Amino acid sequence: QAKSLGRGKVQFFNDTMRQKLKGAALLESDIQSGMNKHEFALFYQPIFTIQTGEIIGFEALVRWHHPERGFISPADFIPLAEETGQILALDLHILELAAKQLRLWHGTLPKDFKVTVNVSSKHFSTLEFADFIQRLYFEYKLPLGSLCIEITESGLIENLSLATEIIEKLKTCGVKLCLDDFGTGYSALGYLHQLPIHILKIDKSFIDNLNCGENHPLVDAILTLASALEFDVVAEGIETQTQLDVLKQTKCQYGQGFLVAKPMPAKQAFTFLTTGKLS
Ligand code: C2E
Ligand code: MG
Ligand code: MG
Ligand code: MG
Repeated sequence: QAKSLGRGKVQFFNDTMRQKLKGAALLESDIQSGMNKHEFALFYQPIFTIQTGEIIGFEALVRWHHPERGFISPADFIPLAEETGQILALDLHILELAAKQLRLWHGTLPKDFKVTVNVSSKHFSTLEFADFIQRLYFEYKLPLGSLCIEITESGLIENLSLATEIIEKLKTCGVKLCLDDFGTGYSALGYLHQLPIHILKIDKSFIDNLNCGENHPLVDAILTLASALEFDVVAEGIETQTQLDVLKQTKCQYGQGFLVAKPMPAKQAFTFLTTGKLS
């Protein structure tokens, strides 16, 4: 049957497959050793109040400094880790990095400052996740509410009752839940009011369209919905002054994007927080 595709096609298929398999195999075994060898590091991107520019938190974004492949972006290994299930261990490793950093910054951050960490929705099918977070709070003596969790829609809905139980447990540490990339998944609006979340992040794709300075019915609709459900809203991917100016005319509380700052290593992020300058 392969023959009937023609020689060129068979060749192409084989090469691509081989390359893919090789790449995947290497990365999969490397994720574990990468954790052991401390090759994963967190960058921090400021989250600010739209109206004042005050920085109220950082989003932690993982970076992998691979010994042979160099810098690998999360978009290139998070999906693989999701597929292999390694995401569970990787996320816990990353959460621990964030907790360590929060401990290092202890006493130097503004009141109510939050570091928000992305995790796979896979964690919301077991109660261990909440135990782990409680352990982090205890071990690193984190101020209540200093750690925030970002998750995408779909996983929560699949396991609504268990997810709710886990989130209730997390609330004892003051952990807030943020729904990431809002508007891109399958929008199960009927479930939204049942989800025990506190913050919605409007996906960058909606913010991109704010450039034209015309009507923006989708962003308005999301903000109305969020306000009715008493969620705070973060606009992600703000790249231009026009986008920020448009957002200032709305009720969107918080923003994040390259216009203000890119994700940066911890030291640089802290300098930016305290001096308002990129070092
Ligand atoms: P996300 O959580 O939606 O993060 C926002 C992404 O947009 C980040 O990409 C950030 O660098 C980028 N970004 C922020 N502002 C702008 C902007 O103004 N313009 C543009 N073009 N991009 C902007 P990054 O760091 O490459 O992360 C990609 C995705 O990988 C994240 O999307 C998140 O889903 C996932 N991810 C990152 N770190 C982690 C992690 O530690 N654990 C897990 N499970 N996933 C992670
Ligand atoms: Mg995120
Ligand atoms: Mg996002
Ligand atoms: Mg995303």
